[in-house]
This record gives sequence, structure tokens and C-alpha cells, in this order.
Amino acid sequence: MSRTSSRTAGRPHVVIVGAGFAGFQAARTLSRLTRRRVDITVLNPTDYFLYLPLLPQVAAGVLEPRRVTVSLTGSLRHVRLVLGEADGVDLDRRTVHYTGPEGESGELGYDRLVLAVGSVNKLLPVPGVAENAHGFRGLPEALYLRDHVTRQIELAAAAGDAETCRSRCTFVVVGAGYTGVEVAAHGQLFTQSLVRRQPLRAGIRPRWVLLDIAERVLPELDRRLSDTADRVLRRRGVEVRTGTSVKEATREGVLLDDGDSVPTRTLVWCVGVRPDPLVESVGKPLERGRLLVDPFLNVPEHPEVFACGDAAAVPDLAKPGQYTAMTAQHAWRQGKVAGTNVAASLGVGERRSYRHHDLGFTVDLGGVSGAANPLGVPLSGPLAGAVTRGYHLAAMPGNRVRVAADWLLDAALPRQGVQLGLVRSWNVPLESSSPELARVPAPEQTGHTDDKQAEKKTTEKKTSDKKTSDKSGDKNTETKNTEKKNQE
Ligand SMILES: Cc1cc2nc3c(=O)[nH]c(=O)nc-3n(C[C@H](O)[C@H](O)[C@H](O)COP(=O)(O)OP(=O)(O)OC[C@H]3O[C@@H](n4cnc5c(N)ncnc54)[C@H](O)[C@@H]3O)c2cc1C
Repeated sequence: MSRTSSRTAGRPHVVIVGAGFAGFQAARTLSRLTRRRVDITVLNPTDYFLYLPLLPQVAAGVLEPRRVTVSLTGSLRHVRLVLGEADGVDLDRRTVHYTGPEGESGELGYDRLVLAVGSVNKLLPVPGVAENAHGFRGLPEALYLRDHVTRQIELAAAAGDAETCRSRCTFVVVGAGYTGVEVAAHGQLFTQSLVRRQPLRAGIRPRWVLLDIAERVLPELDRRLSDTADRVLRRRGVEVRTGTSVKEATREGVLLDDGDSVPTRTLVWCVGVRPDPLVESVGKPLERGRLLVDPFLNVPEHPEVFACGDAAAVPDLAKPGQYTAMTAQHAWRQGKVAGTNVAASLGVGERRSYRHHDLGFTVDLGGVSGAANPLGVPLSGPLAGAVTRGYHLAAMPGNRVRVAADWLLDAALPRQGVQLGLVRSWNVPLESSSPELARVPAPEQTGHTDDKQAEKKTTEKKTSDKKTSDKSGDKNTETKNTEKKNQE
């Protein structure tokens, strides 16, 4: 095991765990404020920041996957990147234990710690879901979905009977929050473009079904955004079924709680997220699984530990008595406050509390459509679509030109309908505490040393994932996932 503490004698060492919206911004702010007077280490499983809001466009073939990533070493100046996943925090010894990408373990000593590990797919104890559904929280899942949808359309076009054709080109998305709505909206346009070049049997069209137990789509957002999204989706032919959920999932289809059954080979699970299980291991008070912090983002009784983003329960000073929502908007701004307050704790500048008034929300409905309410002004149609894309371009910390170039190409050329098959079903189990990484195959399947080491890590993680899922009442194991899905 390698152990690293302060890199330069005399300089404080700040460790930031997680380089998503909150962690990336914390590192950037801290680096700018302290100007090399502090050693900053970011621990993250990937070498990139992932711009999650554009993930549905990756799944629909609008954007190539690397477009929604921003290199950490290329964009965070004077920040050291350690590749790995934290699997334990010892608050007394002030150390973070982690596992590297090839299974090696290491330890980072810190003077200040920022926990910004985000969230993972939320599971519900519905029979068959863990084995047959896929989440939508990371790049591997988006790549998998793009290939899977393409393959289903290809198999549907070649199917010998109408029943198989119908089931293969039926896609069910569960959860009509912004993720589910965007996946369904983009997915429908994607399959439409695929069947243009690959016609299905007469009378059969791709069918997208969007389910939510709530009474409206985008239940957590302004009613007007919800109405716009609902209208656009229905106009395109997406079956929006509110007040409905899944009772059981099998390899051949889903049974809904209204008694209807939908034959399908595709179940996308977008019911929401839960905080990354790492925060539970910290052993401090939690609020719905999120680590409780004060308005300065400090973990109580530990002035040297900060937490922010989806993983932290941050009091919402703009809505007293509530905690801030799990959104990129909050995570990004909390990261900035965390960076500022870490610097202040080291004698640079003043600390401040986190307060943010909602600036509105944008929902990308694919094509030129969108639904948005910037500063509370409701917009729909192409204007909302333009505002949504403009917002994303402005918000991305890099890669903007490439993203804009892909959008231009997509407007001018037909979508590329090929599946590369690099991410298979068993690489992206729904039950995972690491949706940002594709799961590796068993070592006996490859014989490679790297895989053996990584598999050792996977086995350890499986145990912790299982513990978490057992707590949520879901007893399914990933072994079952792998067995059932090996064919795909
Ligand atoms: C498809 C999709 C679309 C979305 N669209 C929007 C939107 O339009 N607007 C909006 O406001 N929000 C949106 N969100 C929500 C938003 O992306 C999250 O709220 C935001 O990413 C939270 O930021 P974070 O920094 O807390 O977590 P993340 O951005 O998820 O970052 C967490 C980081 O921690 C790393 N990590 C995890 N575990 C460990 C570990 N054990 N050790 C080390 N590193 C670890 C991860 O790899 C990741 O880099 C969307 C989410 C999804 C999935």
C-alpha cells in the first residue's frame, strides 16, 4: 500500500474526493485562491470531469462520448490527480484509503478534506429490476444504451415475426424526472432516425413508454416546464403514463402496477439517485443518506472536513428547514464555497455560508425543442431549446467547441447508426456504487493481470454494494445479473 501525506514539507495538504461538479469547482477555486501555497490532491476514479446533463445526447448519438468529458489534468492547474476510488475515511488519523484502477490500494493523509463523491442509481425493491434494468448515471451506461438501442432496432428490422419486432423496438423508461424525460425525448428521435434507414415491418413503429408514479412528468420542477415537456413528448408519440410504476421486470418485458404488461428488451431505470455509499462509512450523522453539514459546508465537530454536492445535506438558507436539491446548479456553487472555505480555514480570505436562489431550470427535449424557465420566465419550443444549449455551453468547463461542432454536424448529417459493442450489459449493472466505471469481466475470462487486480477490487465493492442493496430491501446479487446478461 502506498501512503502519501503532504507532498511539500510545511505546506498544508488538501484532499478532494470526487471531481464532479462540486469537487472540480472546489479544486479550481482553492487552487486560484491559494496560488501554490497549498498542496491539492484530487482523488477520482476517472481522469475527467463528466458533464452529466449532456449524457442523454451521448446515448442518442448526438454527441461523441469524449465531448462530455473535461480532462482534469488539462484544466485544473497546480492540482495533483490520484486515480482511484476512496473506500474509507479515518477521521481520527486524517487519512483516506483508496483503491486504484489496477486494484492497488493507497492512503492519502490530509490536513483538510473535501468529500464530493456525488450519487449513484437509486434502487427500489421491485422484482427483476436489478437483473433486467440499467441505470443512467455514468458514461458507460450511456454508451451501453446507445449500442443497445441501435442493436434492438437492427434485430427488430430483421425479426421473423411481428411480435418479436414489436418487443425489440419497445423502450421503457421508468422515472420522469429530468433524466428520464431527456432519455425518452432523445431516444425517440434517435430510433426514428434509425428506422428511416432500416424500415421495420409494415405498421410497426418504435414505441417509447415513459412511466412515473407521480401525477405529472418533471414532478420536482415548475408546472409550466412539466406541461411543455408532456406536450412535446406526447406529440412525438411517446406514451407518457403517469401514476404508474413497474410491478415486475423480466427479460421479455415489464408488468405494470395497473395490470398492463409491456413486452420489451429495454428497461431504463431513471427513478432517481441516492448519495454515494462512501459517505455512510464516514460514521457521521446523515440526512436521507447525505452527510449532514452546516451552512459553511463543514461536517459538525470536524472543522477540517467539508462536504458538498449530491453527497451532502446542505441546509437551504433560501428555503429554511429544507436541504438543497441534488442538482448540478447547487453542486457547482457549493464546490466554489467549499474551495473558498477551505482556503479561509488555511488563512486565505474569509469563509462564507452557502446560499443560492434558484436560477431556473432547462430541460433538453431533443431536436430544437426544450423547456426552460431562466430566472422564472417560462420558455418552450426552439427558444427554450436554444437557451438550453447556450446554458450548457456556458456551464461546461471545457470542450465547448467540440460540443458545438457535434451539434452542427448533427443538424446537417444523419445520425451514425452503428453499435461498437464495447460496453456490454454485464459491464453496467444497475446495482453499482461506481456507475462511472464499466465493470470488468471475471479474471478467468481474460487471464490479464490488470483484470485480476481490478476484479479483486470489484469483489470487495460487490460486498459493499450488496450491503447497501440489502439495506434497501433488494436482495438481488450482481452474480445473477452477470449470468442472465452474459448472452447480450
Ligand atoms: C443524466 C443526468 C442529467 C442531469 N441533468 C441535470 C441538469 O440538467 N441540471 C442539473 O442541475 N442537474 C442535472 N443532473 C444532476 C447533476 O448532474 C448532479 O446533481 C451533479 O452531478 C452533482 O454533482 P456532484 O459533484 O455532487 O456529483 P458528480 O458530478 O456525480 O461527481 C461525483 C464525482 O465523485 C466521483 N466519485 C464517486 N465515488 C467516489 C469515490 N468513492 N472516490 C473518489 N471519487 C468518487 C465520481 O466519479 C465523480 O467524478 C443530471 C444528472 C444526470 C445523471
